[in-house]
Amino acid sequence: MDYLSHLNPPQREGVENLEGPTMIIAGAGSGKTRVLTYRIAHLITVKNVDPFSILALTFTNKAAKEMRERIEKIVGTDARNLWMGTFHSVFARILRAEADKLGYPSNFTIYDTEDSKSLIRAIVREMGLDDKVYKQNVVYSRISGAKNNLVSWQNYMNNSVYVSEDEQAQKPKMGAIYKEYVQRCFRSGAMDFDDLLFNTNVLFRDHLDVLNKYQQRFKYVMIDEFQDTNISQYLITKRLSAVNQNICIVGDDAQSIYAFRGANIQNILNFEKDYPDLRVIKLEQNYRSTQNIVNAANSVILKNAAQLKKKVWTQNDDGELVHLIKSTSDNEEGRLVASSIFEDKNNKKLENKDFAILYRTNSQSRAMEEALRKSNIPYRIYGGLSFYQRKEIKDLLAYLRFTINHNDEQSFRRIINLPKRGIGASSVDKIVVAAFENDLGIWDVLQKSQRVLPNRAANAVDNFVTLIKTFKIRLEKADAYDTAAFIAKQSGLLKELYDDKTIEGLNRYENVQELLNAIKEFVDDEQQEDKSLEAFIADVALLTDADNEDKDNNDHVNLMTIHSAKGLEFKHVFIVGMEEDLFPSQMMLNSRADLEEERRLFYVALTRAMEKVTLSYALTRYRFGRLKNCEPSRFIEEIDPAYIKVDRKFNRSEPMGDLNNGSSNSVYAKNLVAQRKTERKAVPPGKKLHTPSPDFAPSDTRTLDTGMKVEHPKFGFGEVKKMDVQGANRKATIEFENFGEKTLLLTFAKLRIM
Ligand code: ATP
Ligand code: MG
Repeated sequence: MDYLSHLNPPQREGVENLEGPTMIIAGAGSGKTRVLTYRIAHLITVKNVDPFSILALTFTNKAAKEMRERIEKIVGTDARNLWMGTFHSVFARILRAEADKLGYPSNFTIYDTEDSKSLIRAIVREMGLDDKVYKQNVVYSRISGAKNNLVSWQNYMNNSVYVSEDEQAQKPKMGAIYKEYVQRCFRSGAMDFDDLLFNTNVLFRDHLDVLNKYQQRFKYVMIDEFQDTNISQYLITKRLSAVNQNICIVGDDAQSIYAFRGANIQNILNFEKDYPDLRVIKLEQNYRSTQNIVNAANSVILKNAAQLKKKVWTQNDDGELVHLIKSTSDNEEGRLVASSIFEDKNNKKLENKDFAILYRTNSQSRAMEEALRKSNIPYRIYGGLSFYQRKEIKDLLAYLRFTINHNDEQSFRRIINLPKRGIGASSVDKIVVAAFENDLGIWDVLQKSQRVLPNRAANAVDNFVTLIKTFKIRLEKADAYDTAAFIAKQSGLLKELYDDKTIEGLNRYENVQELLNAIKEFVDDEQQEDKSLEAFIADVALLTDADNEDKDNNDHVNLMTIHSAKGLEFKHVFIVGMEEDLFPSQMMLNSRADLEEERRLFYVALTRAMEKVTLSYALTRYRFGRLKNCEPSRFIEEIDPAYIKVDRKFNRSEPMGDLNNGSSNSVYAKNLVAQRKTERKAVPPGKKLHTPSPDFAPSDTRTLDTGMKVEHPKFGFGEVKKMDVQGANRKATIEFENFGEKTLLLTFAKLRIM
């Protein structure tokens, strides 16, 4: 592929100049990510650089995956050997290899946010502090902030700024909690997300031989979305590229939206100081969006005082003006957005996946979901409660984690009495305290539990220890899938879910099966180098929801927060909830800097669109359980009026035209009426609910056999692939057209044989 001809001159400069430090600072949609992608391809194909020596850091796993796929199209399977991923995933991999240098086991556990918060809760309780003062979220973000500024607990406790801030906030024990939290994680052989960066810094700072090894290995370092890196990330890359200086960063200061999490725009400015020989490339032509969208976005960002001056222009058509729709309530907002999608889909021959609905906070998705469901428009929510956050999934993962690392306190707490073994909360506390007081791991205490527990509980713990030992033996002999399946069964988890015959119970049972399927897929995946259960668990810990692509059905409307839309593009973008206090967020109105960050967020949202942007606001909205009157966001007015228009058709303060006219021929009006009549139960995001045939009546399934066609009231049409008739629980494995393969218990499943 002649990729160089797909680049304009400054882009080419970015791709062809491979030696020395390079910074590409450019506006949205100007091809920054494309330059990085082609640059890597160029290194491999033209310069014969070994992919193993290229490190590329992206903001999400999804971005890394997409980039790898594009590079693979140019260079072939060599692309698999690139070191490419998020900061967290790449450095978790390095930490695993070097863990012993820091005193961690190489199979250390990665605590997710929930694990961290629950540990903080436990510590606050144990220290006898008031959890209304030391709220878990507050403590968590305080510790996280410190770590991301590379402030250890020792430095924290000696730092007069932190200490006096805590005193003023009447939280003097913050430092003590931080200390206890770090020590507990360490004893559990666990790192939280921030530790992955913090500890990498410690590793490179204190072990120069290790640093040197990676400096030699990574001859070329590249970072996308550089504007959102924090100090900790900045220092890691600076150390890594200190010797050969082949570092290339791309970013856009106007899209910096993570200052609240410690990202620092100063990093871009420092970069020029750190690398005096820096080559700076500016890209100004936007290839993504229409003129009107580019102009609208430019007019907004101009209002920010803090920005590097740059032009963004496009040769694309003018396109449509930005649309503005107004509704009386959040529910109606959902309906108007759904009808607008429905209409544009028909009129412009678009697919569902061409649409994105973006919002400021996750909770806004509810009204949108409801409306889309009623309109039978498939959708997918990114960043909500992901599959891996569900209780039953976390339960099994905790068993797997504990089998790998017997000192993981959070997993221990989760599984020690699950299923119930008669080990109560006070026994659990005694074990944790004993570990703490004697400076032992949980596992040491568990093996001698009779010293701290009454007989009955100690016996139960003994059985648990034996169980875990059998799991460990399995882990050492069998592959990841066999081990996980064995543990799911022998732990009693599967049985407990199986015995719960409610719909939810069945759902949970299916979810656990789905997790096992995922492990099977992982084991069967040829691209996977390391197929161990440890590797699977490490991957899962770093998954964000945006990474779980639904393979069977990719055509769905995308729902996500603006933060998770970074770097992505869609033909049509709806930005909903354009109201004061919601966007800009009430919490971000305290300072000019905060307001400017909100404005950059709005800029990011607008620039995701290729062809059409629709802004929407409601006059009333339920917030925190109360109906509130809302005012339109100031950001609407900030768009130059030349580029925006009120959409009369979808505007509740205007006559409703078609919508109120029952005899209308408009397709969407008819559809709206039909939609309002259909109320449906929840379906998994992105899946379209099946409407059973009018004459649907369940058949007697005793004659069911492979090859038969069936209809299921929820999953629709499918074909029987396998029958399992042993024992009392007859099961059929059915391949459904829209839902893929499912194994159903015939006592429950209402099937119609066709
Ligand atoms: P963002 O700031 O949102 O991350 P970006 O600067 O990374 O945007 P890309 O995503 O790389 O921009 O490119 C935006 C769109 O423009 C993509 O669809 C890309 O394929 C296309 N594009 C980039 N450069 C060119 C070019 N020279 N010719 C044609 N299309 C291009
Ligand atoms: Mg990009």
